[in-house]
Amino acid sequence: MDSRLDAIKEAVLARSPGELEFHQAVDEVFQSLAPVHRRHPEFLDAAVLERLCEPERQIIFRVPWVDDAGRIQINRGFRVEFNSALGPFKGGLRFHPSVNLGIVKFLGFEQIFKNSLTGMPLGGGKGGSDFDPRDRSDGEVMRFCQSFMTELYRHIGEYTDVPAGDIGVGGREIGYLFGQYKRITNRYESGVLTGKGISWGGSLVRPEATGYGTVIFTEQMLKTQGKSIEGQRVVVSGSGNVAINAIEKAQALGALVVACSDSEGYVVDEAGIDVALLRQIKEVERGRLKEYEAQRARVSYVQGGSVWDVDATVALPCATQNELDGDAAARLVRNGLLAVGEGANMPSTRRAVTVFQEAGILFGPGKAANAGGVATSALEMQQNASRDSWSFAHTEQRLATIMVDIHDRCAATAESYGDPGNYVLGANICGFVKVADAMLAQGVI
Ligand code: NDP
Repeated sequence: MDSRLDAIKEAVLARSPGELEFHQAVDEVFQSLAPVHRRHPEFLDAAVLERLCEPERQIIFRVPWVDDAGRIQINRGFRVEFNSALGPFKGGLRFHPSVNLGIVKFLGFEQIFKNSLTGMPLGGGKGGSDFDPRDRSDGEVMRFCQSFMTELYRHIGEYTDVPAGDIGVGGREIGYLFGQYKRITNRYESGVLTGKGISWGGSLVRPEATGYGTVIFTEQMLKTQGKSIEGQRVVVSGSGNVAINAIEKAQALGALVVACSDSEGYVVDEAGIDVALLRQIKEVERGRLKEYEAQRARVSYVQGGSVWDVDATVALPCATQNELDGDAAARLVRNGLLAVGEGANMPSTRRAVTVFQEAGILFGPGKAANAGGVATSALEMQQNASRDSWSFAHTEQRLATIMVDIHDRCAATAESYGDPGNYVLGANICGFVKVADAMLAQGVI
């Protein structure tokens, strides 16, 4: 890495001690940026990187609520408004016990480049809480969401900051959050949140968009080598929103998805994952993946362990950060892997990415491959602004066009910087340059 970039990076990391995931995300982006700064020295003169790595605003707040037993519970809420050069801050809310400032900052930092890549007018932000919605009643989730929004509402708005879902935040949570925002502000401001229910301002295809988009991106990568997802043996991690929809799309395109996981274990179903059954267990009953085994013949369930022990030609990590390490990557490569499409954010460790790239595996980083979710959130915002609602087919077509375009721009950028096929480089540079240009134009703010 260029010594000036290295010095900037070290100062950024020293300023955020202990935020390991944020450090990892910053390091990965900086590794790609030396050639950009040789071409655009004006970015260094204007301290674009130093500004980009410091969030515009970080909010941390107490979230008190009462559980079903009448006990008072306290969680911590976060919203990191990272960069608004391209538009209002935009990014999901994550409710998971592992959430802390470093995780929210890594997600918000990644979101800046992802949102830029979509070509939509969106800045980057992220938020969440260490609240765990699993095994909580609907009433508890509602009271938590109402308390969370009672602080968050003053920081967000359709032209300011537009949150959405992420791990642990789906349609139910967005509903409770929107209801409380409406109640406090006395405004039916549809554009303040995305991922809303279809009957009250949501967009068709938004629930499917991240998973579908990841598969479309992966298909585009395979096409560059004259291959297709059809007939591939696919392993998906996770069994949440992104994973289920990635499985559905991959199977619709003729792939065989043989395994998926949750935080307790994984199932192997050589006949192909039954998506309807998986949706019933995970989305309707909010159950555990273990229940899949009991309801289908010739399925094996492995408690604990890693789903990456299952051989695949295409891997779609769709659960969480750093879930696929260097050893797992090496094993997958040895056993015939062709491509990786990251549905989750930063699911592959740095070592795993190096293993994939050195082996010549097609590797689609999350900030490009999973950008279909936020892109369709932008389509939801467009429909809200024009008081319109589009058909499934029309919206899905828009998503497909956006994903092909993101793929092509990442590929073209990598090529123009002398490293064809390096989608990490392409995504980082393409996402960065647009934001940097906007920051230069908007002055020192
Ligand atoms: P969900 O909450 O719907 O599903 C998450 C899945 O991952 C669950 O199966 C969960 O298992 C599993 N999981 C979560 N944490 C862990 C962990 N620490 N170890 C193992 N498994 C884990 O979330 P989403 O599907 O929405 O999000 C998945 C990933 O995709 C995240 O990285 C998210 O940031 C990213 N993403 C999501 C977008 C969206 O539109 N929703 C957009 C872009 C990226 P269990 O059920 O046991 O908790």
